[in-house]
Parts: sequence; structure tokens; C-alpha cells
Amino acid sequence: MKVLGTTDEHSGRCDCCSTRIKRAVVLETSDGNVVRYGMTCAAIATRHRPAKIQRLAFNAMHEAKQAEYASKAIERIRRAVAWPSPPVGFSSWREVDDAIYPPE
Ligand SMILES: [Zn+2]
Repeated sequence: MKVLGTTDEHSGRCDCCSTRIKRAVVLETSDGNVVRYGMTCAAIATRHRPAKIQRLAFNAMHEAKQAEYASKAIERIRRAVAWPSPPVGFSSWREVDDAIYPPE
């Protein structure tokens, strides 16, 4: 089980034992499913202490945020450098994956 983060958005019960929970630990199972467990079940499932789960959750969410910022930055750069149309004399160049190449 991989710790993906923590969330307040869940069904209100642990996916493992159906106990009422306030905050859920979001876990990814080995077959790729995402489950929301209370801390106790998350600790048992991952064999980590709650403090370590909190840390793993924080790190995972931080990384996800960083990745989101990075992909937004890449998108901004792509838009900024987008070449609207080939300049005069380049009209026969081929456009492939946002790059242009001379005629074959
Ligand atoms: Zn449970």
C-alpha cells in the first residue's frame, strides 16, 4: 500500500472496517485501486506508525502539488513559445508535434 495523502473528503467511514472517521488516509493498493482508510487501518495496512503515515502523506501531497505547478509552468512556456504560423518562406515546412521541419 502506498500513502497518497490525507483527505476530509470521503464517505464518512473507513473503507476497511466501516468505522466512522473524520480524516481519511488515501492509499493506493498494489493493484492500483485507491482506498480511504482511517488512521488505525492505514497503520495496519502499511505497517507504518501514524506519525510516519502523516509524513508520507505530507510528502506525497507536496510532490503532487509540485508536479501540478511544474506542468502548469510547462504549459505556460508552451503557449509562450508557440509558433503561430511558419514565417514567410517556411510555408512548406511540416508541423510535427509543435515543431517544424523542412520539406522532405
Ligand atoms: Zn478501518
